[in-house]
Amino acid sequence: MGKSFEAWGWSEKHPLIIAGPCSVETPEQLDETVAALVKQGVKIIRGGVWKPRTRPGSFEGVGAIALPWIQEVKKKYGVKFAIEVANPNHVKQALDADIDILWIGARSTVNPFTVQEIADSLKGVDIPIFVKNPVNPDLALWIGALERLDQAGLKRIGAIHRGFSNFNDTTYRNSPMWQLPIELKTKFPELPLINDPSHICGRRDLLFDVAQMALDLDFDGLIIESHRDPDHAWSDAAQQVTPGVLGDMLHRLKIRTINPENS
Ligand code: PEP
Ligand code: MN
Repeated sequence: MGKSFEAWGWSEKHPLIIAGPCSVETPEQLDETVAALVKQGVKIIRGGVWKPRTRPGSFEGVGAIALPWIQEVKKKYGVKFAIEVANPNHVKQALDADIDILWIGARSTVNPFTVQEIADSLKGVDIPIFVKNPVNPDLALWIGALERLDQAGLKRIGAIHRGFSNFNDTTYRNSPMWQLPIELKTKFPELPLINDPSHICGRRDLLFDVAQMALDLDFDGLIIESHRDPDHAWSDAAQQVTPGVLGDMLHRLKIRTINPENS
């Protein structure tokens, strides 16, 4: 299962970088954030439209009204856009709005019925789709979700490592448990695997080290939350960074390259 980014027909250089706000909030927030990210060389933007929140009563995303705002920034800045989908209705609306990349969130990956419904709604559609690891450290569940998409005929499937729920880890919001993504990569060497340091760390000061660890482990890319004004973000404020800070971090990250002459 799985085909590398090269086989997806993507010309982006490794590592793949996806960045953008946790949530799309307003047309102005989106435009300003995307403009600043593009200046930092980011070509693929993320932004949550429908937000799965652990507790009720928190901001649950602006919903489908964000889709025309996204279409606008795609046109204006020439970027690709990735959003989370959690049911076939989201899939339909995302496809109608020409969203380029989908992902299944950690709270959906745990539910095989949900994943199957999403997979069925994508039969005959050729769109890149990433699967975040389930919230619990269950590799079989993660693989099962990837297989459901594979069996539905999707050709461009990738995995996102966003860490695992924990009860007493005082450092990370979601423990990285690196052995799980490593085992996934060992089982499916061609499957693109990217790291989401934002949801692992839960706080911005830890992002660099986690991102560097992922690159050292040969992950294929990073998805990082970035917002024009992180402290006032409507969701996940503590872990977001400004596009400027993100750009600086991307410059400082050491990217492992294989140089045959030195080996
Ligand atoms: C997100 O990407 O903003 C998100 C809700 O992530 P996760 O599914 O990893 O919790
Ligand atoms: Mn988030």
